[in-house]
Amino acid sequence: MKILAINAGSSSLKFQLLEMPQKTVITSGLIERIGFDDSIYTIKVNGDKIKEVKSIPNHSVAVQMLLDSLINLKIVENYEEIRGVGHRVVHGGEKFVDSVLITDEVINEIEALKDFAPLHNPANATGIRAFSEILPNVKQVAVFDTAFHQTMPEEAYLYPAPYKWYKAYGVRRYGFHGTSHKYVSQRAIELLNKEVTKIITVHIGNGGSISAIKNGKSIDTSMGFTPLAGIMMGTRSGDIDPSILPYVMEKEGISIEKAITALNNESGLKGISNKSSDMRDIVNGVNEFDGNCVRAFNLFVKRVCDFIGSYFILLGGCDAIVFTAGIGENSEPARKAIVERLGSSLGIILDNEANKVMGEEKIISTPESKVKVFVIPTDEELVIAIDTLRLIK
Ligand code: AMP
Repeated sequence: MKILAINAGSSSLKFQLLEMPQKTVITSGLIERIGFDDSIYTIKVNGDKIKEVKSIPNHSVAVQMLLDSLINLKIVENYEEIRGVGHRVVHGGEKFVDSVLITDEVINEIEALKDFAPLHNPANATGIRAFSEILPNVKQVAVFDTAFHQTMPEEAYLYPAPYKWYKAYGVRRYGFHGTSHKYVSQRAIELLNKEVTKIITVHIGNGGSISAIKNGKSIDTSMGFTPLAGIMMGTRSGDIDPSILPYVMEKEGISIEKAITALNNESGLKGISNKSSDMRDIVNGVNEFDGNCVRAFNLFVKRVCDFIGSYFILLGGCDAIVFTAGIGENSEPARKAIVERLGSSLGIILDNEANKVMGEEKIISTPESKVKVFVIPTDEELVIAIDTLRLIK
């Protein structure tokens, strides 16, 4: 049966149509600049990319256009062929510990969590409502970025701030990229073929987070109350001393919004290199002995290794480290620097030849290595489709 996996942003809508349970991608695409006069609709069919620029005023029009094009391009004969729609939802708070079938109440809950994800949750809810309007009889499922981390124990999710902040306002670690950590850790468990497992998943893309996974359950993760926490990222700082904020705000005469925007958009690889948020540019800079790029690369590697090291201790050793997402799947030099920095303490030995892999599943440690190191491409759309299939059945 055909399942649509949807990732709606405030002005965009990414989609993938999958044949399930075969897990084959039939078509995929992206609608950008929703609400502008020059919205861009792109759909990939049989390897060809079709692109159209026209005004798409809102998400309902975007959804209608997507469904029309599936018919016009003869990808489906009628809407009834689409048996389920799965939506990525960024924040599920403490309420959602797994994916759920969408009801009016669930949509209201997703909207009510907007204080925790002001840019994302309202956009996700808008996407869901648009599909409910146009396909009222098709079952929809919400798949939350936070749900997989709801198994974290209190010692991992609580901040040592006034306890009242947690009880009254929900201030705690939630963690994100849950669908990705879940997918790659489950795949690693299959590859390890063991019942009791200790895995560290390293999702490093433009955003990044690391998780400690014991017997398939998340017990700690580097992102926190928001996705700004944890490791250094493309444009995000990751963890910093919060007292820096009032200090810099006073020095520069800027508002809290500007200061937080600087930590979200002007920091990380971009902020330190003063060049780019993209690891490819940073690595090119390192090869040209650009001092700012070397500094950014080294800082990135250190911060990733600090989390892996602490999760190694937390788990009491580890069977496998799994690299995934844009940098984790593709950047030979980033993986090499991380593994080599950890190597002598954790007994990990990199297979330099295997580490040349890009975007494919591969074991990149040698047989003598005490910890296996895998590259496992993440597939969040597939997790959405799998969960949708499970819940609509
Ligand atoms: P993602 O957020 O998972 O899509 O990852 C996007 C990021 O992955 C980019 O900003 C790059 O930093 C990184 N990336 C993608 N391809 C490569 C590559 N071939 N080598 C190094 N980094 C890459």
